[in-house]
Amino acid sequence: MSSDKNTSAPKPATATPQAIRGTQDIFGPDAEAFAFVVETFERVRRLYRFRRAEMPVFEKTAVFSRSLGETTDVVSKEMYSFEDRGGESLTLRPEFTAGIARAYLTNGWQQHAPLKLATHGPLFRYERPQKGRYRQFHQIDAEIIGAGEPQADVELLVMADQILRELGISDGVTLQLNTLGDAPSREAWRAALIDYFRAVKGELSEDSQERLEKNPLRILDSKDPRDKVFTADAPMIDAFLSDEAQEFFGKVTAGLDAAGVAWTRAQTLVRGLDYYRHTAFEFVTDRLGAQGTVLGGGRYDGLIEALGGPHTPAVGWAAGIERLAMLVGDSGTNLSPPFDVALVVESAEAEGFATLLSARLRSTGVTTDVYARGKRQRRFDKAKGDGAEMIVTLQSPTSAPASTFAIKLAATNAELDLSKGVCAISDVLAAEGYSSDLPDGIVVGPWITVSK
Ligand code: ATP
Ligand code: MG
Repeated sequence: MSSDKNTSAPKPATATPQAIRGTQDIFGPDAEAFAFVVETFERVRRLYRFRRAEMPVFEKTAVFSRSLGETTDVVSKEMYSFEDRGGESLTLRPEFTAGIARAYLTNGWQQHAPLKLATHGPLFRYERPQKGRYRQFHQIDAEIIGAGEPQADVELLVMADQILRELGISDGVTLQLNTLGDAPSREAWRAALIDYFRAVKGELSEDSQERLEKNPLRILDSKDPRDKVFTADAPMIDAFLSDEAQEFFGKVTAGLDAAGVAWTRAQTLVRGLDYYRHTAFEFVTDRLGAQGTVLGGGRYDGLIEALGGPHTPAVGWAAGIERLAMLVGDSGTNLSPPFDVALVVESAEAEGFATLLSARLRSTGVTTDVYARGKRQRRFDKAKGDGAEMIVTLQSPTSAPASTFAIKLAATNAELDLSKGVCAISDVLAAEGYSSDLPDGIVVGPWITVSK
């Protein structure tokens, strides 16, 4: 019962700063899943001939406030805005589309219209952090700008569907589809919604009371039980669709059916942002709790005009990489990178040879790592533990001339096909002028002497 506790380890002089709330350091299997999402996106967007673009992470605040609409949650509550040293109001991008539209106008990308663009990277929203919801998160994003035909909507949705399938997560993810109509349809629906909700205004959530006059469509999107009571019986868009809007939606659904993409109609699905017209969609799962929307998008024919450009129809989607990666992680996909050959160096004299052999193997596409550190007897175990398919042990017999090595190949799993590694090693030895005592090349098992 003495007080030695007080005399334990001294406090470090400098406290380590903590990461910012809502940000993540991604490593290990999560980082592999993240990379798999990005690589799959990059591969598939090339198949559809979407071109890569990189945009700045920050923009003038007006880029987002004007295009997203002042009444959206993103603009009114979630933006990271600040004044820079020159007194200009800047904002860390909360989404990609507005910045892409700005770039389209300021760079004269109209000349490429219709322009199929793809990008990915970090976004920032001041939200309440929880599983699947962060303050810095990442999206993959695809847009077709300058295309007013329903075929563009279909192409984007078919691409999204292919990405989910190639990620191995399409089971249990459903495409929910709606139309918000053209401008006249949307206006008529909006007016009907205001009438309907005004009658029960006092019983709605505070947020929805505020949305009522400015952005009544958003009430349909509310998760508050006080609002949900009324959303089921609210007027639906179908009653207000113009013939043109109906025809447009019919072509989108017919295209999806032709491509074999399953969809369900979701009449209360509206997108949070003001600039959407016609098609609106989300890919939704029940496997991520409250954060069930993995991909969302739609047609935003009004956006480019809101940024001072000419009327330019466009459609796009974005998907949260973290949410996709969580589904990939749960799906049991093996994401360990291939590891073909571990070179275990058993004598210091063989180190140079290991450097040469590993460099040659890697340049021919054989995944290789060198084990030359730590206790000699533990190097083999470490290589085995790291999951190499083949372990190559290198020795330089002390009595031998410097150009002679003993090499032994071991399989870590009898079922593996080692021909790739064995052929690559034989080729390297031959190319470097070594001859082995086995004229037909190397076999797995015994020590082999190689010399010049
Ligand atoms: P939610 O309803 O979940 O807030 P949202 O409608 O705000 O989503 P979008 O702006 O359409 O989302 O963004 C597209 C996708 O980006 C979402 O479907 C989701 O996968 C992802 N996403 C959005 N916000 C976050 C966040 N804060 N953290 C992680 N992922 C996010
Ligand atoms: Mg949101």
